[in-house]
Amino acid sequence: MLNLKYNKDQKTDILVLETIINQYETNRASLSQLTGLNKATISVITKKLLEDELIKEVGIGNASNLGGRKPILLKFNGMCATSITIDFGYNYYNAFLYYLDGREIASIKKKNILINQHNVVPIFKEIITIFENKKITTKHGIIGIAIAIHGPVNNNQILFTPSYDLEEIELFNEFSKVTNYPIYLENEANLAALGEYTFSSEYNRLVAINMHSGIGAGIVDKGILQYGTRGMCGEIGHQIISIDGRRCNCGNLGCLETYASNKVIFKEFADLKNLSLVNAVIIREFFNSGDLETIDLIKKNAKYVATGINNVIVLFDPELIIINSSLYREIPELFTYLKQNIKSTLANDIKIEHSKLNEYANLLGGLSLILQKSFKIHQFKIQDINYKI
Ligand SMILES: [Zn+2]
Repeated sequence: MLNLKYNKDQKTDILVLETIINQYETNRASLSQLTGLNKATISVITKKLLEDELIKEVGIGNASNLGGRKPILLKFNGMCATSITIDFGYNYYNAFLYYLDGREIASIKKKNILINQHNVVPIFKEIITIFENKKITTKHGIIGIAIAIHGPVNNNQILFTPSYDLEEIELFNEFSKVTNYPIYLENEANLAALGEYTFSSEYNRLVAINMHSGIGAGIVDKGILQYGTRGMCGEIGHQIISIDGRRCNCGNLGCLETYASNKVIFKEFADLKNLSLVNAVIIREFFNSGDLETIDLIKKNAKYVATGINNVIVLFDPELIIINSSLYREIPELFTYLKQNIKSTLANDIKIEHSKLNEYANLLGGLSLILQKSFKIHQFKIQDINYKI
């Protein structure tokens, strides 16, 4: 485990590293101005950061207007270590080995495999072995493993997983028997929100909504994930939008996701058109051809989702709402319908966009979480990869 403790006050070390990451490239004089620390302190901290290879010197900048020596530019060194994120869906898994700036080193993607309490640990073990065998040499090696779980998680404990049975085992303990690397279990929508915060957006307060088999959201405020008291914060698919409505896996009646998840719309579309295979691309083709039944179904979905989003806006008042859904990606007109259905004056000017990271959001979010935990930093944006802010 990395430990930034170069001074008596660890907070100053953390502040300097966070500032260097956010500035992309900077120099010691600017760091002094930005952090309020004197030049001698900056000099001590940057010397240690350079020795630990957490930052690097990347050339010479321009001299100030007053003349003098040209400053040496400093930059976060994403290649000082690596991290692993694994997304366990109910019928797939994706695993990525990243450098700390988000650059991909290796990936493993498997589809059509039902994840359960019996195969998840052997799969985890296999992934770690494959990535270790890449023998990537960095100063600090693998600094953490983040696991995306499709269900709420609180302090590495899975609370409930409606789409698979991983709640039945002590997953954190089982994974910890396999490896000594720090392991972080986290809700997948939470990770997606962190990924968007760190790698794709300039905003401080955002809600990232994932719509797949269910509907979940991650809420980030200045880099800090919101958990609530028991880790349930962001479970927006279980807001009740119809009194005595459809029965939900959670036990309630009338939850949003029983009306508006992709799984539900795919099922309704399959029944409507008598099809055995439905996905977002097939629905888009019917939609683009002007099929009225499909347009009605799509408009109905936008109405339900808009009701859910309106509730999210009045509860959290975010700067940005990001939607991650194959349906919304394939049919961008859904955003127009959504905005037409969010009429409240309280929701004026709210930005609602599709994810720029798509299926990489929760994977990059895992890296973001590992950086937070390893360095105790929160408010940072990484601009090294091409998900332009
Ligand atoms: Zn529910």
